[in-house]
Amino acid sequence: MPVAAASVDGGAATMGDPLVDTHGRVHRDLRISLTDRCSLRCTYCMPEQGNEWLAKSSILTVDEIVRIARVAAADGITTFRLTGGEPLLRADIVEVVRRLAAVTGADGRPVQVAMTTNGIRLPQLLPALVEAGLDRLNISIDTLRGDRFHALTRRDRLDDVLAGIAAAQASGLRPLKLNAVAMRGVNEDELVELVEFAVAHGAQMRFIEQMPLDAGHTWDRSRMVTQDEILTALSARWALTAVPGRGGAPAARWLLDGGPHTVGVIASVTAPFCGDCDRLRLTADGQLRNCLFSTTEYDLLPILRAQTSPGGAVDAGIDGMLRSCVFGKLPGHAINDPAFLQPARGMNAIGG
Ligand code: SAM
Ligand code: SF4
Repeated sequence: MPVAAASVDGGAATMGDPLVDTHGRVHRDLRISLTDRCSLRCTYCMPEQGNEWLAKSSILTVDEIVRIARVAAADGITTFRLTGGEPLLRADIVEVVRRLAAVTGADGRPVQVAMTTNGIRLPQLLPALVEAGLDRLNISIDTLRGDRFHALTRRDRLDDVLAGIAAAQASGLRPLKLNAVAMRGVNEDELVELVEFAVAHGAQMRFIEQMPLDAGHTWDRSRMVTQDEILTALSARWALTAVPGRGGAPAARWLLDGGPHTVGVIASVTAPFCGDCDRLRLTADGQLRNCLFSTTEYDLLPILRAQTSPGGAVDAGIDGMLRSCVFGKLPGHAINDPAFLQPARGMNAIGG
């Protein structure tokens, strides 16, 4: 895949200035993928077998992650969202959270640390993660039926995910969000049940339109359940009222029967929200990306691992690469363009 070589921001911005792209979008959210490994094999994300794993030597260390995070926070990033692969598979996950939670933003306030996880290791790890400073959790659960879960994730782990959600419910972390990819012929008849489950667990359910990011490149638009179909299914059970003021959030939300509970839909395909996107991504092997669907990556590894650079030069190099990445951001993704090319990496290697 193409890799940007030079540090170019097309302007006079320097370290400490906000990360504003050529379309005026200010970047506040950095998604940090900690690993491409996972305990599940969701069909829409990973192949059943034969995945090509990232080389262990290329995976960022906690020191390298924190170094990037500090520069990003000085440049106005206010939230780090840890993802993967499965972020809880990382042996040093508690240390990663502890050190990121200690990073302060440009305004001197601590940065928020959130995580998207399949939940399987939460019962063991959640108390330590909370103590280390984790602020928020999103847990993925596409179905409540064991046979479906097994077929969809190719692993028999529904009970472990449910235990993870119970642990999250018992913790003080709020808002708690549950994510499901809506899939035709797989879980489209379970949407109401999933919302009821989320409400019963003090969580907000969010449905995601399936995106062309599976490692097998088998995405098929005709099998995608659209936002309109999701809302139609939920309208049979609740009166839905749109919640205004979405800002840069990926999910549009609706009140259920006037509230207080809500449901969210992330409609990247049929109702893209690129105009308000404030997100950047860092892969586990040190590549900056300005979009899930980008085919260009901005390589931080040579900057981080240059033997001869003094500390200040490394930070300046990271800052320059962040600005190049932001400068190169297109106005929107092109999923709906006939010439759309799926990125080479699957979702597990980009970081969802
Ligand atoms: N393993 C963790 C998990 O599943 O929550 C974190 C990584 S996962 C890649 C992050 C999110 O991306 C999950 O909510 C997952 O459902 C979603 N996702 C993965 N592949 C997707 C696809 N092709 N389309 C839409 N969402 C996808
Ligand atoms: Fe693993 Fe998350 Fe991908 Fe499922 S969606 S295979 S849990 S990384």
